[in-house]
Amino acid sequence: MSTYTERVMEGVLRRNPSEPEFHQAVKEVLDSLDPILEQHPEYEKNCILERFTEPERVLMFRIPWLNDNGKVQVNRGFRIEFNSAIGPYKGGLRFHPTVTLGVLKFLAFEQILKNSLTTLPMGGGKGGSDFDPKGKSDAEVMRFCQSMMTELCRHIGPNTDVPAGDIGVGGREIGYLFGQYKRLRNEFTGVLTGKGLNWGGSLIRPEATGYGSVYFAQEMLATRDDSLEGKVCTVSGSGNVAQYTIEKLLQCGAKAVSCSDSNGTIHDPDGIDEEKLQFIMELKNVRRGRISEYAEKYPKAKYIKVARPWGIKCDCAFPSATQNEITGDDAKTLLANGCILVSEGANMPTEPEGVDQFVHAGILYGPGKAANAGGVAVSGLEMSQNSQRLRWSREEVDSYLHRIMKDIHKAAFESAEKYGAPGNLVLGANAAGFVKVADSMLDQGLV
Ligand code: NDP
Repeated sequence: MSTYTERVMEGVLRRNPSEPEFHQAVKEVLDSLDPILEQHPEYEKNCILERFTEPERVLMFRIPWLNDNGKVQVNRGFRIEFNSAIGPYKGGLRFHPTVTLGVLKFLAFEQILKNSLTTLPMGGGKGGSDFDPKGKSDAEVMRFCQSMMTELCRHIGPNTDVPAGDIGVGGREIGYLFGQYKRLRNEFTGVLTGKGLNWGGSLIRPEATGYGSVYFAQEMLATRDDSLEGKVCTVSGSGNVAQYTIEKLLQCGAKAVSCSDSNGTIHDPDGIDEEKLQFIMELKNVRRGRISEYAEKYPKAKYIKVARPWGIKCDCAFPSATQNEITGDDAKTLLANGCILVSEGANMPTEPEGVDQFVHAGILYGPGKAANAGGVAVSGLEMSQNSQRLRWSREEVDSYLHRIMKDIHKAAFESAEKYGAPGNLVLGANAAGFVKVADSMLDQGLV
């Protein structure tokens, strides 16, 4: 006789073939929920899990655009409006050639629980396109964004669905998308977050995910009377999340010794200092170059032609690039090298075999939906500021962010204890995020 979660999982596999990332994300959550379902028979009675794993709406559309040579290009656009039980759909847009329906469904599903954990009123969504911004001119990126928004604007709105950035979508892309929305709808509203500071953006939004992941690491270490001071840290990625993770690690007295892009990793045993970080920011955000140039500029650093830094000995690891970037073998290597903490800036960066090893080893392991929730939390604060038509100070937003990350850790930590798995923040985060959404779904009836 199979259990409720097993039956739901079977249905998810049957109805969503060829979506392995979505299966992975759902399975991890369902595996955590048995102790909660035992205490809440009303969830099964009302088919909460069947509804919770089925998106409310999936949009797929054509995005035609002209490249600089006047040639027609066609990409595919998506928006997954997964769950609006606790607020308007909220979640980023990803532009990357690996984007598929299944990848975005996994991200939107994770986002439901993450947004619930932030304590702010935001539902779960995600979107994007298989468009690759790499090597494209600004004019091409603009034409693409305008074409995408021409369709997307029918479905989103400040009280309906509020997208933000993710991989391949930063300030430039949000600007082009916002401009086109404004033109088509003739309204200036907080329909996107991650906006520029001159036109409705929030201070600390660019920093929020990276800073938040480090704040979360501090909370985990504090449970063992430890701190980041003097810790050697490996960071993957060299985009938005990685850059501000490194910045906050520096401020906390830790030493970040690596970062990467999809071609390779740099290992700088002396540590990435303020000046080197400025070089990375200019390289990646302005010149849009490759991380290998770091080793040319700073010859003491080594360039390794592997996109992952997990072979480098470290105390703490901050995966901040993409999903499934820590395999089971990588996890083994990290543990063998004495790693005591993993804080996930990226979404689902650790494969299930790796997660099992971290949990089993009892290291401090902060799953993405908790550790990287700082980005969407400050997006929520950007929405609040837009509604108030006010701008809060840097200190104010940062202190909110810090408090939210502490609260998320506390909720996940206490929930893990409550459901009989002390220290297991995977279970704790899933449980804490889920109950609020499930109860809201019950309150709102069968919709
Ligand atoms: P960016 O596009 O700014 O940076 C992504 C970085 O990861 C780049 O260095 C990129 O290298 C590298 N990368 C991307 N895909 C791969 C791949 N398949 N293999 C190896 N390296 C890869 O994105 P963000 O920093 O915004 O996002 C990073 C992660 O953080 C993602 O998992 C995202 O979902 C998550 N996240 C982001 C939030 C945000 O606020 N931005 C919020 C919460 C989570 P290259 O330049 O070569 O492509």
